[in-house]
Amino acid sequence: MAFKKPTNLTSWSISRYHTWKTCPASAKYKFIDKIPEPASPAMERGSDIHKLAEEYLKGKKRILPKELKLFRDLFKELRGYCSKLTQVTHIEASWAFRNDWSQTVFNDWANCWLRVKLDFAVFLPEGNVLNVIDWKTGKFREYNIQDYIEQLELYALSAMKFNPSIEKVVPKLVYLDTGDTYPPESDPLVFTKADVKGLQKKWEKAVAPMLKDTRFPPKPNNTCRWCNFSAAKGGPCKF
Ligand code: SF4
Repeated sequence: MAFKKPTNLTSWSISRYHTWKTCPASAKYKFIDKIPEPASPAMERGSDIHKLAEEYLKGKKRILPKELKLFRDLFKELRGYCSKLTQVTHIEASWAFRNDWSQTVFNDWANCWLRVKLDFAVFLPEGNVLNVIDWKTGKFREYNIQDYIEQLELYALSAMKFNPSIEKVVPKLVYLDTGDTYPPESDPLVFTKADVKGLQKKWEKAVAPMLKDTRFPPKPNNTCRWCNFSAAKGGPCKF
C-alpha cells in the first residue's frame, strides 16, 4: 500500500506550536513535508552543551565543563541531588500524552498527541515541589517572553499530569552563556494543582487550530531572512 502523506499535524510539542504560530507554512515544510535543513552551528553547539550538562549531572564527567561555569554552584547542587538514590531526578526526560492527557510513550505514532522534552527536574519532598530547568544557549530575548512563559506553563502542566501527586512546579530557563535566569530567582513562577484545569483548557484551545490546519499559509515575518524554506535560499516558499 502506498504511503499517504498526512495533510495535517496530529501531534504537537512546544517547538511545533511556536513554529506554526510564527509561520504555518514553515511548520508544514518542517514537520509534514520533512524537507531536510542544513544543521546550524548554533543548534549544533546548543546540543553539544546540553550533552555536557547531562554527562556532568550523571557523574560521567568529574570536572565541570567550562561551558557551564557561570552556574557552577547550581550544577554542583543538582549533581548532589542526582547522586542520591532517594532523590527523584529526571535528566533529559521525555514525556508523552494522548489527547485526553493520559500518558503514553514517545513513539506511540498512532495516539501520541503531545510530546514534552525535559532537560532537568528534581523533586523536593519537603515542599512536594518539582523544580524544572531548561538549559538555554544564546541570549535571553525580551521580545520572546510570551513564548518563554508558554514553555514554562507547559512544563508545569505536563509535570502535574505525569505525576498527579506533585503539588507544585517551579520551572525556569537557565541561560548558560550569559548567566541569566528566567524568571529571576527573586520572582519565581509557581504553578500548583489549582492551575491544572485552566492550563489544560488553555492548551487544548491554543493547539486546536494548528491540528485542524490543512492550508498552512505562509506568514512572512522577521525570521524569513534566516528561513531555510525561503525563496532566497532556494526553498519552496514564495517569500
Ligand atoms: S520564508 Fe517566511 S513566510 Fe516563507 S516559510 Fe519561511 S518563515 Fe514562512
